[in-house]
Amino acid sequence: MGVTVPARRLGVFGGAFDPPHNAHVALVRAAVEQLALDELRVFPTGQAWHKPHRLSPPQHRLAMARLAFEGLPRVVVDDREIQRAGPTYTFDTLQELQAAEPQAQLFLIMGADQAAALPNWHRFQEILQLAIISIAGRVHVAGTSGQFDPQNLAGARWQALQLPALSVSATEVRHRAAAAQGIAHLVPESVARYIEQHHLYQTA
Ligand code: ATP
Repeated sequence: MGVTVPARRLGVFGGAFDPPHNAHVALVRAAVEQLALDELRVFPTGQAWHKPHRLSPPQHRLAMARLAFEGLPRVVVDDREIQRAGPTYTFDTLQELQAAEPQAQLFLIMGADQAAALPNWHRFQEILQLAIISIAGRVHVAGTSGQFDPQNLAGARWQALQLPALSVSATEVRHRAAAAQGIAHLVPESVARYIEQHHLYQTA
């Protein structure tokens, strides 16, 4: 008799991480636990097609993502979106992961603001076929108007993540750093040190 091996549960969490902050870390921790993930991969984006501001150089964002996430159990930072030429599309990343591991169950993890915008993403319908969408609530984020409406994901496989509401955004961190205000309460210590050492966001 054959033994059924359960599918590996692989989380996918993309972002600009300009910089990574405490809500990203909390979201990653919650996803690993609540989705019982075998692995969660963090993907700093290459050329983000949907971000209004110019992103910091990818090598800085990658370095900060490694500092913020790599100590967490089951979490790996993957630089493929930064290495890939052209605009970053999550669809491409999901497809590559599925091709490499056809048995894996993919979970695409995001905040509610991103979930609201998901129907506009490149190859949205195919994304829904490839992954279960896992959504963490997001409150009071300056500059984001998106309200997640579950009806937009009708027919999709999706689930909510339980996460205490954290209003921090990367925009707020950049603005505070530019104004020489403290950011120690918003980002991991190692990230705060990196920002200071590399003089990031001084003119945000
Ligand atoms: P910015 O302020 O520059 O737009 P951001 O804080 O939204 O950046 P991103 O790197 O764009 O950070 O976010 C990556 C992912 O993390 C997205 O899915 C986003 O919805 C989610 N996220 C970011 N901040 C929060 C938060 N406070 N609560 C829940 N999800 C969040």
